[in-house]
This record gives sequence, structure tokens and C-alpha cells, in this order.
Amino acid sequence: MRIDLHAHSNASDGTDTPAELVAAAVGAGLDVVALTDHDTVAGHTEAADAVHALPAGTRLTLVPGAELSCVAGDISMHLLAYLFDPAEPAFAAERELVRTDRFRRGRAIVERCRELGADISWEQVRRIAGEGSVGRPHIASALVEAGVVASVSDAFTADWLANGGRADVRKHETDPVRAVRLVRAAGGVPVFAHPGAAKRGRTVSDQVIAELAAAGLAALEVDHIDHDEPTRAHLRGLAAELGLLTTGSSDYHGSRKTVRLGEHTTDPQVYEALVEQATGAKPIGG
Ligand code: AMP
Ligand code: FE
Ligand code: FE
Ligand code: ZN
Repeated sequence: MRIDLHAHSNASDGTDTPAELVAAAVGAGLDVVALTDHDTVAGHTEAADAVHALPAGTRLTLVPGAELSCVAGDISMHLLAYLFDPAEPAFAAERELVRTDRFRRGRAIVERCRELGADISWEQVRRIAGEGSVGRPHIASALVEAGVVASVSDAFTADWLANGGRADVRKHETDPVRAVRLVRAAGGVPVFAHPGAAKRGRTVSDQVIAELAAAGLAALEVDHIDHDEPTRAHLRGLAAELGLLTTGSSDYHGSRKTVRLGEHTTDPQVYEALVEQATGAKPIGG
């Protein structure tokens, strides 16, 4: 069983359509893929339709999810949510609040980039993002198009879009203890995404992770491209101490990042345990 529990489509900052993501998951030999776009479930229906349309004999299970933008004190962090009821009003309202503020903030970042001499425009960013939940990676793509930086990851420096960088503007983000409770109340399973991704900025303390565990966190995403070996070892120990499961996933973003689908995977027993905790939705297909 090959299980990848973190992937983005163009419903947020990935480049594959949800249907293309499903095809790519089959192509990568995955048995299970989770669709976890930032602050949105807009890709779920298309992905589910694509799974249902797979030829007989092709097996893929889709785990509908999302990745909620959170902030602990002043440290941004991401909470994966799986198998919640997308219609549950409190969590749906929170996702909508974050998505709406992404537009205000996207415009402000573009303005800042222009002041700093980058010839990009909000129209261009909207074209790149399409219907997707607008984020810094779309603005990074605009900076690449304008020849300001050579690659999306080169835009995530202090000069431009990195946390606290010259053109970084904050968006509304949810308190993570509240987010964990919102996900659980919607029948979902909350997992802390890349908790030790230090290259993205400051990371939260073990104390904060303990508070999230007490609030109902299910797991830590340990095997992730942004974690080095010592970080993984530390997180594994912490998870054992706190009674949390550990997952592994690619955080695939199509061509916007170099990571491949299935580059990191989750143990089948952990996957089963996560699915068992969910009451808001069921995996699709398979
Ligand atoms: P936003 O949600 O708009 O604040 O943008 C955050 C997204 O930017 C993350 O989900 C990643 O896809 C991407 N990102 C953050 N840090 C980096 C980085 N250092 N290199 C490349 N992409 C990054
Ligand atoms: Fe992303
Ligand atoms: Fe993330
Ligand atoms: Zn992600």
C-alpha cells in the first residue's frame, strides 16, 4: 500500500487540476491520495468524479481534506484536516474567512512587490491562480514570469515573499487549538502539517504541540521534504510521548515544486487508524 496524505491541486497553489492529480496519483502507483488544498474544498467534487471514472481494475482511494492556515502566537503553521463534513457551518465559515482575506492580502503583496520594482500585476496573479485559493506561490509564479526571480522557491527569500520578507503581508490565520476543535467538531481528523519546517520560518515549540495534542490533534506529519533526519527523530519521539500518530506525505504542488507524488508515504496501519477516527466523511473509491 502506497499512501500519500498531502497533495495540492489548482483549487489552491498546485498546478494540476483535481482530475489531473487523480491521474498523477494512479501514475505514481499510489493506492491512497489525500487532496488537501489550502483553506478550500473546491477541488473535492472534480477529484471524486475522476476517481469514479477510473477504468475497472484501476484502484485509487481519495481522502478528501484541506490544509488550514493557522497561527500560534505569531508563528504561522498548517493544520491538515481529513474526512470532515464539508457542510459543517463553523469550520466552513472559518475556511471562507481565510480564503476571503487571501484576496486582500494578495493585492497588498502585489502592491509591495511593485514598490520594490517588480513589474507584476494583480490581474496577472488572478490569471495564474484561476479559481484557486490565492497564495504566495501564485505571486511567486508571477515574479518568475516577470523575470524577477528564476524559480518559485527563489521567491521565498527575505527579499520577497518569505515569512517576514520585504513583500510579505500577513493574512487571517486561525488559532490552532481552535482549529483542532473545529475540525473534530466537523467529524474530521486534524494532523499537524510539517511541524518542523524550519526553512519556512520559525516553528512552534513542543509545548504548543502538547497543547494541540490535548485539544484533540491526531498526528504529526513527520516524513516531509522540509524535515531533516534529526527533526524527524525528534518529532517521532515527541509523538510517542504525546500519544500521537505519525504520517508521511509529499506535499505535492504539481510543477510549482519539485517534490514528486508519493515521495514520502504513510504507514497503512496509521492510515486505517486515522480513517477510523473520522465521522464527517468517508474515503472515496478504492
Ligand atoms: P500562503 O498560504 O499564501 O501564505 O503561502 C504558503 C505556501 O507557500 C505554502 O503552502 C507553500 O506552498 C509555499 N511556500 C512556503 N514557504 C516556501 C518556501 N520556502 N519555498 C517554496 N514554497 C514555499
Ligand atoms: Fe502550498
Ligand atoms: Fe503546508
Ligand atoms: Zn500543503
